[in-house]
Amino acid sequence: MRTTVDMAAADIAPSVGSVLAAQSISERAMSDKRIVGLARDAIDTLCRLARPIAIMDEIEKGDFQNVYHGEGRNEPETPLGDILQHADTQALFAVTLGEDVSREITRLFDENEFAPAAMLDAAASEGAETVALTVEKSYRDHLRCTGSLGSTAATMPFSPGYCGWHVSGQRALFDTLRPKEIGITLSDSFLMHPLKSISGVIVAGHKDIFEFEDTFPFCDKCETRSCRSRIKAAMEQ
Ligand code: SF4
Repeated sequence: MRTTVDMAAADIAPSVGSVLAAQSISERAMSDKRIVGLARDAIDTLCRLARPIAIMDEIEKGDFQNVYHGEGRNEPETPLGDILQHADTQALFAVTLGEDVSREITRLFDENEFAPAAMLDAAASEGAETVALTVEKSYRDHLRCTGSLGSTAATMPFSPGYCGWHVSGQRALFDTLRPKEIGITLSDSFLMHPLKSISGVIVAGHKDIFEFEDTFPFCDKCETRSCRSRIKAAMEQ
């Protein structure tokens, strides 16, 4: 089921509040007209320049084990490694907002327009996350429609570079998914172009398999602890 999904930029545009929260700007700043104006301008620019598109392809567990192994540089114990043992199905995905937004962010930083640049960077990151969540939901809906995902099952995304999956895993993921079809390429240092792109795997299985602790050795260096909100979201699916 190799699928590409186009989305309207307006459908992935974040709220002013989420753009500010992504930069750890407090709610009190919502009364600062200048800051709110910068956030609104960034969202307008995102809507004008973003070309959200995604690609997704289901993959057999054995084939994904090879992708996940990548260049053999993953941490010995990882949440995804454990979850995979019990997963029912999985799909590779990649999403991007296109080149124009990333180019505009770079231009603003290069011209020392730091406030608008940071706002657009945050808005674009939020937008890319929304595209990734939309793709995850689309995979979940597909599984539910075909009877492959019961009410006690859920989905959860994982990306190379996080939670013990080494960033070099991007190479095997790109070789298998081939997201160049939607304009995403990979550099020798495993950076995606356009920059505002996300890739990874969506794993589906019983909700129990996603309830892991944030006590892996590498969790000490994790600033976001984003697994906590992702687990909560999976339990509420
Ligand atoms: S604490 Fe951070 S590194 Fe550890 S599993 Fe959660 S998100 Fe991943």
